[in-house]
Amino acid sequence: MKNILSFLDSNGIQFKKIGQQYVCRCPICKGDNAVHKHNAQINLNFNNIYCYSEGKVYFASDIRAALGGKVL
Ligand SMILES: [Zn+2]
Repeated sequence: MKNILSFLDSNGIQFKKIGQQYVCRCPICKGDNAVHKHNAQINLNFNNIYCYSEGKVYFASDIRAALGGKVL
């Protein structure tokens, strides 16, 4: 399985390291008005992201499915 960070990187989804955590803007909902910039936490152990705005977990396969043919 492709590392979630490589997956995000190859699809132009920016992420950032804050302390020990990697965060990004949810590629599915693109965040909401209440949460600026980063609204999802990247979990390297489980190779997924957790979106705070939606309260959902997304694996690379979920993101790929949601974004259609635009992703690798
Ligand atoms: Zn989201």
